[in-house]
Amino acid sequence: MPLDEYRRKRDFSKTPEPDGSAPPSKRKKTAGLFFSVQKHLATHLHYDLRLEWNGVLLSWAIPKGPSIDPADKRLAMQTEDHPFDYGTFEGVIPEGYGAGIVMLWDRGTWTPESPDVDAALRKGDLKFTLDGYKLKGSWALVRTRGYGGGSRPSWLLIKHRDEWAGPLDIGEFAPLSVKTPDADFADILAADNPAVWTTNPPAKTGDTGKLFQRIIAQAVAMKESRGAQDTTKPRRRAKAATKKRR
Ligand code: MN
Repeated sequence: MPLDEYRRKRDFSKTPEPDGSAPPSKRKKTAGLFFSVQKHLATHLHYDLRLEWNGVLLSWAIPKGPSIDPADKRLAMQTEDHPFDYGTFEGVIPEGYGAGIVMLWDRGTWTPESPDVDAALRKGDLKFTLDGYKLKGSWALVRTRGYGGGSRPSWLLIKHRDEWAGPLDIGEFAPLSVKTPDADFADILAADNPAVWTTNPPAKTGDTGKLFQRIIAQAVAMKESRGAQDTTKPRRRAKAATKKRR
């Protein structure tokens, strides 16, 4: 079963991530195949590219994130297939596999340029077009040989030269959520439970540890400044406060 590995890695009594049990009929029919990129602050900051194919999301973890500069070849480590519903997930994974904060960084549709997608995936050379908010135009995923050495193959994500390519750092230029307007990691954590990692954050040392400390402190301060009188609908209150603040 395509989602066995996904489910084996997670305890759904402890994570808000979808368990993949939603029937396919629940999924909205869109004009094209769905794609998204989730910015994931876990033990290391990375970006997860997801491409809808055969009812699931093919997935790659990209440590440096996608680049729209064709000179960059970004390492993309293939990970387990994810359920379709995962594609728009944004929130806090309090513990376990992938513990951290997930931001929906881009979403849209993708169109294969390779005539036979399954054959292209087997061959390790998939060409496709993205139509997202941030990522557009023609791209390639090329499987590498002898890279990584883990059980899953490594690929390179490369932007083709077209009108959507350029020497811009898209991750720095457009760092925020496309799901919650203007939300950064601290906003997403503040809307959930900012105190969840005050004792044991997913990363404790190095740059990622420092980043977590800063984001947790920011989220706690945001939550405190919004007052604690309404405890019934914390998420809604946080969203309203975010709107007011900006
Ligand atoms: Mn991830």
